[in-house]
Amino acid sequence: MQIRKHFRFEAAHVLPHHPGKCSRMHGHSYRLDVAIRGPIKTDGPARGMIEDFDKIKRIVREHVVDILDHTTLNDAIENPTAEHIIMWIWRKLENHLSGLDELVLWETATSCAVLRRSDFGA
Ligand SMILES: [Zn+2]
Repeated sequence: MQIRKHFRFEAAHVLPHHPGKCSRMHGHSYRLDVAIRGPIKTDGPARGMIEDFDKIKRIVREHVVDILDHTTLNDAIENPTAEHIIMWIWRKLENHLSGLDELVLWETATSCAVLRRSDFGA
């Protein structure tokens, strides 16, 4: 089974190699979907759950949202396209969220990047 939690952050970026208007500084209201896959736990504090939504919220806020929110993404990520940002987010979360299965990063209401565990050949 898979569970998902949604997050939002606001950030600015410049795409220096883009031939059009994205080479100018501008901002997005990003939406990040974090999906965890695994069995339903049968003991411990999260029994009956795949993972505690509260724990997912704490980890994603600490390692991603609080770091990127209201920043210029170019300060942390080179050429911060949606594809590069989602790779950066995966690396930040993979060691903290066991069962991390899929990320979806929405840059606009109609444009997103999807990164799945299977993309790494695992
Ligand atoms: Zn943009």
